[in-house]
Amino acid sequence: MTDPKPAKRVHIKTYGCQMNVYDTERMLETLRPLGYESCDSQDDADFVILNTCHIREKASEKVYSELGRLRVLREEKAQDGKPLMLAVAGCVAQAEGEEILNRAPQVDMVFGPQTYHRLPEFLAKAERDGGSQQIDVDFPIEDKFDVLPRDRDVGGVTAFLTIQEGCDKFCTFCVVPYTRGAEQSRPAAAILEEARLLASKGVREITLLGQNVNAYHGEGPDGREWGLARLARALADVDGIDRIRYTTSHPRDMDRDLIDAHGEVPALMPFLHLPVQSGSDRILAAMNRRHDTDLFRRIVGELREARPDIALSSDFIVGFPGETDLEFAETLKLVTEIGFASSFSFRYSPRPGTPAATLADPVPDAVQSERLSALQQLLEAQQEAFNRSCVDRTMPVLMEKPGRKPGQLVGRSPYLQPVHIDGGSELIGQIVNCRIDALRSYSLFGQISDSPSEERNCA
Ligand code: SAM
Ligand code: SF4
Repeated sequence: MTDPKPAKRVHIKTYGCQMNVYDTERMLETLRPLGYESCDSQDDADFVILNTCHIREKASEKVYSELGRLRVLREEKAQDGKPLMLAVAGCVAQAEGEEILNRAPQVDMVFGPQTYHRLPEFLAKAERDGGSQQIDVDFPIEDKFDVLPRDRDVGGVTAFLTIQEGCDKFCTFCVVPYTRGAEQSRPAAAILEEARLLASKGVREITLLGQNVNAYHGEGPDGREWGLARLARALADVDGIDRIRYTTSHPRDMDRDLIDAHGEVPALMPFLHLPVQSGSDRILAAMNRRHDTDLFRRIVGELREARPDIALSSDFIVGFPGETDLEFAETLKLVTEIGFASSFSFRYSPRPGTPAATLADPVPDAVQSERLSALQQLLEAQQEAFNRSCVDRTMPVLMEKPGRKPGQLVGRSPYLQPVHIDGGSELIGQIVNCRIDALRSYSLFGQISDSPSEERNCA
């Protein structure tokens, strides 16, 4: 009897957002039928894919330093007679295509977020043609979701589910409309089928993903166009799916239906990421955000009315060209007024090809750093206050996995905070009411409680 053919090993390094995490999972699912299994270390791999992010300069520069290290590894492996194939995928691949092949001739293939379903063809061609480099950064006619394997490999109780891709908003600082292309929504039936499959594999919580997820407008099974609210209501009816989240939303697309759904669909978690970017209306206009601070305030007010226990997180950019001290102070004022449970904040990073990259009046580095640190201090204080206000509360926690200590489990609160409790592994996948006793760093610690959870916001 001959030994089975040894599996080939692929290592995918994922940069950037949750959409890239989802794409990485789908790439692995595409490669598995070709005999590839995933490995944790590049040293053990026959194939390394960098699934890249182009959103800020730092993110894309990291890719080139990684490619430098991989060139050395590839040479060492070649000396040992073990070929290593290298691919660059994701948004840097989409934006820089040929330039990657010129700057890093060791790369075998470059493909974008819309063509990774063609991996079997790329690999067959690589085997056939040996050393020739391949590039595919089209926006193809076929829909990758029709070609990707139907089955999903999920091991946990939470999963991402991409429902929408691309963006037509064209904020002046952002590369997404160029790297991910025009807005496209998947049909609701395909999303519901994927959700049912995930539920059958033990998933209890899904996070719906899209660059502009609440602009979702897919074809419904009834032939009509469905918005995100309609889709969320249908997903809440899928047996086994108890929690639904979605990210990233644009304030402009937070319509009445969706706000009402937050009040009416218990599965929609009371935690929403809603990027505002700036507290200055002049800067928001220069960013082409298509919303002002009043619209943002109104939406937050309506959300809080519909779902009083809702908490918010947001994204901020400091040091956009021409931002004055007063305009930055308006951002601090808005943050103080709204109150966020957690947030992401960035220094403005000029991106080639975007309209803002040609604007005059850059904010000096030192001023950007000062503003970022002032904003982050405020946001961190708000996060700490929010987390602290959860102590002595009872809240439903979805238990996800064993903790670091024996007998300990870790789960997530409705607000995505990690919660540690003592309990057996039979609780994994269950939503249990936990009494929160303590906050340490960013984690909550508690114990299973018999009392019902409270329907009130922390803070
Ligand atoms: N679609 C989302 C929205 O409209 O807010 C954001 C998607 S983007 C992947 C995530 C965040 O990166 C943005 O909200 C923004 O704060 C930040 N970002 C995007 N481009 C940036 C740039 N050129 N410089 C600094 N931060 C940037
Ligand atoms: Fe980028 Fe978001 Fe603006 Fe679209 S809406 S251009 S993804 S920041």
